[in-house]
Amino acid sequence: MDFHLDTLLKLPNVVADSYSSTLDAVVIKLQLVNAGINCPNCNKYICHLHQTRPILVRDLSIFGQTVYLKVPRRQFYCSDCKISPTETLSWVNKRQRQTNRYQEYIYERVKESTVKQTSENEKMSEDAVQDIFHKVANSKKKDWGLPERLSLDEFARRKGKGKFATILTDLDKSSLLEVIDSHKNDDIITVLKELPLAMREGVKEVCVDMWGGFPKVIREVFPNARTVIDRFHVQKIVNKALNKIRLVLKLKGLKNRYLLMSNQANLTDEEREELELMLKSSPSLRICHELKEELITIYNSNITPSGGMRKISKWLISARVMLSSAAETIDSHLEEICNYFNNRTTSSVTEGINTKIKLIIRQSYGFKNFDLMKEKLLACLFK
Ligand SMILES: [Zn+2]
Repeated sequence: MDFHLDTLLKLPNVVADSYSSTLDAVVIKLQLVNAGINCPNCNKYICHLHQTRPILVRDLSIFGQTVYLKVPRRQFYCSDCKISPTETLSWVNKRQRQTNRYQEYIYERVKESTVKQTSENEKMSEDAVQDIFHKVANSKKKDWGLPERLSLDEFARRKGKGKFATILTDLDKSSLLEVIDSHKNDDIITVLKELPLAMREGVKEVCVDMWGGFPKVIREVFPNARTVIDRFHVQKIVNKALNKIRLVLKLKGLKNRYLLMSNQANLTDEEREELELMLKSSPSLRICHELKEELITIYNSNITPSGGMRKISKWLISARVMLSSAAETIDSHLEEICNYFNNRTTSSVTEGINTKIKLIIRQSYGFKNFDLMKEKLLACLFK
């Protein structure tokens, strides 16, 4: 069989000299075929070998076996400069005990699973895996470009422990841009003001929910941006109010909840009949249900922000009577709510990212500290 391990290795200027194997590892001894190097000081090609120290470098596994490469670390002598520079290799960095491609592999494994899982699979300590992940993550360029539509949102780092973090997302790229270890306005402003002003000035819209209290942040950090309140959060508070009435009326059960909460347009004929029966039992429930549907219709219609403002203001007249506190909340955010009608911007992208964040945190059984969590989230969700 005409077989060359060298072609499988795919490393430049390298041939396999010999190999030996133990129970669980293969060691491939390498030879470097270039006669010399360019002196890093004077750039002259130098072939005078000063000394060679072989080192063991871990590489990608082969056939389920751990692979080590025995790499000759060569030092050449430059007679002009009187120095002995060490040869640099493009595929393994100085003082590194893994090839670059193996480190890249570890990074991808951690992205897909966890540090712990990767450590077990690769039989490498968790600290070593974490170090490699950190190093590779740092070397990746994080170019935000010039985002125009962003969203700010917060999430609970640990359920029920009152620890919140804020995330900034690029809605057009579905990309997680930043994770901030706080949900306080001043902390967020401090972090985001470090971004170049030209970038911040280019942001046109920032989508938020009604709870975040982010308007101050948006005013200070993104001076040209309009605040848009996410329509689904608005619909949610109306749904919540409607649900409360359902419970007061003792119309319990998931089926009733489903019939009442779903967009009527999505129900089957049979379900619509069931809903009709339920609404017959209470005129006030019927009115509230109509209000919910009417709001969806307003949101779905092709109108301008001022048209939206007129329609929602009119809607509020009845809503105030039937859904008092929900209506009050909507009333106090009316302008930002109607900004939706400019570009129909929503933060559904952020909802998706938030779901992934929760998954990553659960998968890792929490993170030792905020920086580790942030690094992993950005590695996985920045695009
Ligand atoms: Zn030299």
